[in-house]
Amino acid sequence: MEGRSHLLVGLTAGVVLDSFVHFSGDPLTVAKTVTLALLVKKAVFYGAVGFGALLPDIDNARSTLGRKFGAVSKTIQRLAGHRTLFHSILGLVLGSLLAIGLEQVVIFLLDQRGLQVPAHLISTSHLVFYGVLFGSIMHIAADSLTVGGVPLFWPIHKRFGFPPDPDWRFTTGTWREYVIVWGFMILVAFAIWQQMIII
Ligand SMILES: [Zn+2]
Repeated sequence: MEGRSHLLVGLTAGVVLDSFVHFSGDPLTVAKTVTLALLVKKAVFYGAVGFGALLPDIDNARSTLGRKFGAVSKTIQRLAGHRTLFHSILGLVLGSLLAIGLEQVVIFLLDQRGLQVPAHLISTSHLVFYGVLFGSIMHIAADSLTVGGVPLFWPIHKRFGFPPDPDWRFTTGTWREYVIVWGFMILVAFAIWQQMIII
């Protein structure tokens, strides 16, 4: 799936998730007062979801994110290959552990110097974490709809997709991809209009 499609699917799915769990604070339509802090929180959440929605394709030097990361992306593609670790459950787990570990190291190092990380910074870092994780999950879910499928249980190479018959899936960049992406967005827009989903 193309980078732009991943971004649109990820952000739209982010709206659905946020409607139910309110990661980014009160929905704007029901918030008593819309503060700058609330808007910043929403921007951080959706920024993180958007980044996460592109992140797994860092293993492809020609992808939207891969082009930005140049040598890093080329090295990952050479060592791991496209649609391997970065499109698997193992990748999600390792990435999450890395992020959690990094946060603990930063907290520890600051603590050693007698500094305490303010609570709002910790909660922002958690918001970024959940946003990136959710975006990445949506990326892998969206790629599973393509003919190639995804190696969910990598290092086992078997690829999975939905529907299970690859003939029912679409090839990246074809009209079917746009129908699915726009169909999903229109569905969510309809749900927002019907107030089944609140933003
Ligand atoms: Zn991908």
